[in-house]
Amino acid sequence: MLLEAINMDEFHEKSQKCKSAIMPFGSVEEHGPHLPLGTDTIHAYELAKSTAKYIDVFVCPPIWYGLCKSTSQHPGTITISGYTLRRLAVEIAGSLYAQGIRNFIMVSGHAGSTHMAYLVDAGEQILADYKESRVAVLSIIDIIAGSCKELVETEGDAHAGEVETSLMLHLRPEWVTGTAEREFPSFPKHILVRDKIPFWPKGVWGDPAKATVEKGQAILDRESRYLADLINKIEKMEKGF
Ligand SMILES: [Zn+2]
Repeated sequence: MLLEAINMDEFHEKSQKCKSAIMPFGSVEEHGPHLPLGTDTIHAYELAKSTAKYIDVFVCPPIWYGLCKSTSQHPGTITISGYTLRRLAVEIAGSLYAQGIRNFIMVSGHAGSTHMAYLVDAGEQILADYKESRVAVLSIIDIIAGSCKELVETEGDAHAGEVETSLMLHLRPEWVTGTAEREFPSFPKHILVRDKIPFWPKGVWGDPAKATVEKGQAILDRESRYLADLINKIEKMEKGF
């Protein structure tokens, strides 16, 4: 049930029974020389839509912008602060809560650790503010680790590599411009650097050459089933709320 596609009467009727909403988060961020800037948002949103085939759930319009740290200087990346991201998450969940939604599944196509930390913090705020709420926060890296890591050949593949290239070949083939070389960033441990591009020139974290359209299809399907199971679990959970 896509929120932007249903009318108020349909929402009213469906929300009597369905109390769960997926909130897809993404980014506008460089994804190497071969993938679109919107890769993370497209992935999260298509995953949410595909999950809705397996379980009754509202799918919110995606939040296109995220907090991008290591890619902030690459061409095309548009980043927002963690405060803004956190606030968006809390306010959107609060408004959905007022409309009767109780279970919030925040799924992020962008998996940066600082970005995810703000979403987790937002989730804790939602739990504190809305007494009947239940919250899950997870990134596509978490979902892949839990659902289909055996499909991925490249160890540590995380950004614009085998997984995301496969997914875009499946979801938006017309927006994929060839491929890119295998690359991994070389940021120093613990040290924050002002000039980031020398440590990650091409903006790829993994191996795009290992991508196939069939892999993209299989990954999305496994991810969707995993997310549907999680929603089923959060709806049935008694302890902890
Ligand atoms: Zn990505």
